[in-house]
Amino acid sequence: MHNVTLIKGDGIGPSIMDAAVAVINASGAKIHWHEADAGMSAYERTGTPLPDATMESIAQTRVAFKGPLTTMVGEGFRSINVELRKQYDLYANVRPAKSWKGVKTRYDDVDIVIVRENTEGLYVGLEHYLTPAKDIAESLAVVTKAGSERIVEYAFKYAIDNNRKKVTVCHKANILKYTQGLFLRAAREVAAKYPDIEFDEKIVDAACMHMVMKPEQFDVVVTTNMFGDILSDLTAGLVGGLGLIPGANIGVDAALFEAVHGSAPDIAGKNIANPTAVMMGGVMMLNHLGEHEAAIRMQNAIEKVVNGGVYVTPDLNPESKYGTKEMGQAIVDAME
Ligand code: NAD
Repeated sequence: MHNVTLIKGDGIGPSIMDAAVAVINASGAKIHWHEADAGMSAYERTGTPLPDATMESIAQTRVAFKGPLTTMVGEGFRSINVELRKQYDLYANVRPAKSWKGVKTRYDDVDIVIVRENTEGLYVGLEHYLTPAKDIAESLAVVTKAGSERIVEYAFKYAIDNNRKKVTVCHKANILKYTQGLFLRAAREVAAKYPDIEFDEKIVDAACMHMVMKPEQFDVVVTTNMFGDILSDLTAGLVGGLGLIPGANIGVDAALFEAVHGSAPDIAGKNIANPTAVMMGGVMMLNHLGEHEAAIRMQNAIEKVVNGGVYVTPDLNPESKYGTKEMGQAIVDAME
């Protein structure tokens, strides 16, 4: 029995998480769920977006399965997602984007894994105004040699463990010579230890163009925090949108699995949110827990339904009459 902290989250979170939990339970994996609160809904109920009980639960289970959390834009609390990543030092954010046979997009052979540094860079939250009138603001990026080395090491080990051939570092060292320069130098040093894996370097803006024109030249991509955030939405777009892309946040002794997308307030409560991304996050979690057979069973069932194109949400098939609940049930029914 594995203990997992379950955070259903905000907006579309509860509906897609209910569907995903039903599928994980049907996969044969033995999970004891510990439900905990976080985000806007926790704030409204308890006055804090990250209650102590939630932190205590993750401290015990060391594995969390999390729905999207709403973050107030430009004011209020810092992102709870960022807080959780910092608290448990979840330094590697792994976001795989792979084409689906049944999802029509411009390319049918995309297979890119973004490995994003998750604790440093511009997202450390060191921001302030420089004037009382609040008309000049400053944001500091923090990049360390140790942090850069460990994420690049992670990317190369991931490449080896997952039979990947190439690691591309995306950076902006031509302009940000200190922070990005440090990251690039660390990447080059680590790459030299892995002669069997091809290593490539791309400046991030050029990488964006190459990714949309010739995505097949990318395999594993390693990059700093904000670039990884942006590039993973780009790769999501290449394979059919945010409803399909999971993310694993991995630390030395804790891990958190989720979708890349947010709480989608524009479609909350309409039973049209695609649960595939969090379900694929569930597949990554089962693999992390060593439940490989259940993970394969679950992935096959998801693929059958997504590629079938019938019992899917309207983002995948605009003609579809079915929604989140029906898609979740179809995946449970497709489990072999
Ligand atoms: P979003 O990812 O919630 O939505 C972007 C667009 O994609 C919207 O049009 C939405 O309807 C669509 N979309 C997202 N998920 C979908 C799904 N499963 N099925 C179908 N369509 C889907 O991004 P946003 O609107 O910029 O952010 C909303 C809130 O979520 C913000 O408060 C933001 O801070 C937060 N957020 C949280 C996380 C997280 O918890 N990991 C990640 C990103 C954003």
